[in-house]
Amino acid sequence: MTMNVTDERRAELRERYRAERDKRLRADGNDQYLQPTGRFAQLLDDPYTTGVERSSVHDEVTVAIIGAGFSGLVTAARLRQSGVRDVRLIDAAGDVGGVWYWNRYPGAMCDTAAMIYLPLLEETGTVPSAKYVPAHEIFAHARRIATTFNLYEQSLLSTGVTDVRWDETSSRWVISTDRGDEFRAKFVATGTGPLHRPKLPAVPGLEDFAGSIFHTSRWEYSVTGGSPDGSPMTALADRRVGIIGTGATGVQCIPHLGRDSGELFVFQRTPSSIDIRNNHPIDPEWFASLEPGWQRRWLRNFTILQTGGFADEDLVMDGWTDISQRIRDRVVARIQAGEAFGPETSLAAYEESDDEKMEEIRARVDAIVTDRATAEALKPWYRQLCKRPCFHDEYLQTFNRPNVHLVDTNGRGVERVDAHGAWVNGEHFPLDVIVLASGFEVGTDLSRRSGFEIAGRDGVTLSEYWSRGMRSLHGTHVHGFPNLFILGFAQAANLISNVPHNYVESADAIAAVVAHAGACDAEKVEVTSEAEAAWLVRIQPRQGSVIGSPDCTPGYYNNEGKPLGEDQQLNGAAFVEGPAAYFDYLESWRTSGTFDGLAFS
Ligand code: NDP
Repeated sequence: MTMNVTDERRAELRERYRAERDKRLRADGNDQYLQPTGRFAQLLDDPYTTGVERSSVHDEVTVAIIGAGFSGLVTAARLRQSGVRDVRLIDAAGDVGGVWYWNRYPGAMCDTAAMIYLPLLEETGTVPSAKYVPAHEIFAHARRIATTFNLYEQSLLSTGVTDVRWDETSSRWVISTDRGDEFRAKFVATGTGPLHRPKLPAVPGLEDFAGSIFHTSRWEYSVTGGSPDGSPMTALADRRVGIIGTGATGVQCIPHLGRDSGELFVFQRTPSSIDIRNNHPIDPEWFASLEPGWQRRWLRNFTILQTGGFADEDLVMDGWTDISQRIRDRVVARIQAGEAFGPETSLAAYEESDDEKMEEIRARVDAIVTDRATAEALKPWYRQLCKRPCFHDEYLQTFNRPNVHLVDTNGRGVERVDAHGAWVNGEHFPLDVIVLASGFEVGTDLSRRSGFEIAGRDGVTLSEYWSRGMRSLHGTHVHGFPNLFILGFAQAANLISNVPHNYVESADAIAAVVAHAGACDAEKVEVTSEAEAAWLVRIQPRQGSVIGSPDCTPGYYNNEGKPLGEDQQLNGAAFVEGPAAYFDYLESWRTSGTFDGLAFS
């Protein structure tokens, strides 16, 4: 279904998008969210692993990796493959897996195709069950990586790092934890992730609620019944359940809550865009026919196509590559019609294809949702990448169930909560259970999100060094912090449609740096201040991108609609020529053998 959008309609859309955005802008921006304290302090606890006893550790390892999610796991695996024997993963969670350890809500799955999202499929001999796989399969894959590369042996799980300090005399990092450990490491890598600290909606009275209330990243199956594999939550059968939040998480668990709750009230502030998911099983025979090295080819193919490049075929073929395909087709059509190519061509093509896509998404709501008022309220009025695009084939259908009620707050959110339920537009909704699908802290201080400071040379902390914005080489190396690797994607590719791809590429580079340090007997590896300054010229805040635009409806993609200062913009800067070019650049950097910008001493 392709929708033609007339100029008149286009003008209407601009007007509507602006009005819907303005309605949602708030002076308090990011400050509207609450940290889990008081009644909610236990939200940061680990409900899945308890009572782990062990004696404290006082030794030395070659590499300590803080965070055992995919970034830490992939980096550890590559280090092991390159011959480093002692790699220690440390994580507050009771197992590896990062977000896939914590997020066990019903319906949790990945919106990026498993063939590219699950790292090291070839190395671990893993066949994904389907194009998009459920969270428990992703968690199992994380554990498989840890087992395959023997990472559990030295790891410290259920352990929160409290302090990381550089000791110049011994050229070692000293790491302290909440389990009384104090050990040394030649290298430290931090993979604490961009989105893991739960935040709560600032709804007055939330703490007064007398029923059960929990965040999606700490799902209380003891309250709901059921389990992460999606089995029925029988304890909800006669309950009135409310859910606050309709982002990517809410969209995935609402169909399950709708199926199992006596009554479900979905409190919506802004609707998500819900595109087709079209999941299907993976045929093991087809999978076995793939040539060795296939995953790298698939990763590159997706990244090229998803970020506006050209390739002979679209291997992944999903909603992400569809966005770019449409833009590309329009650019080509404009050039064939005689238009000279320039940045305006791309921007115009992008806007046209975006309008077309969003009209289709709104038409899909009308086609699926039977109640007209509900359908109208479920339509998103913004450009697709203003918010995280969602893909689901049961979400919209859930609103046709007689026990499911959409409570549209017209952009204002839930007014207040009392002991017995929630208030919206002056109406009281009695509830037994409230599920908070209100997301995670983004863009707040690194130390607040990770729970510790990293003190480099002369005791200068990373927060201090970055107080006027992030500074690095490749987003990985920081001057004044020798032998430290930041595992992330800012100031590098910044590829958000397939986050693990960033980690796979950076892990190769880090393993090469550590191997080179070993080969030349270097005790210290540090980026020079000149190289760091030069890198800041090669990266830029995203230009012309919808993601992060202050013109968008507020959300974490655009700092809740508050324009960022120049310093803050550095935190989201990316390699100017785009992700695919960045990965090519990084490959040639690491294979050159000279590691330009780093000093080995
Ligand atoms: P989000 O921050 O995307 O969504 C939070 C939701 O809470 C929004 O709908 C927000 O509304 C709503 N909200 C906040 N305050 C209030 C209030 N006072 N009243 C009513 N509603 C309120 O968090 P998610 O957990 O959904 O997603 C976070 C990210 O996690 C995703 O963007 C994605 O990157 C990742 N994720 C990835 C998945 C995958 O497939 N790999 C699956 C799930 C999540 P509003 O929009 O108006 O701000």
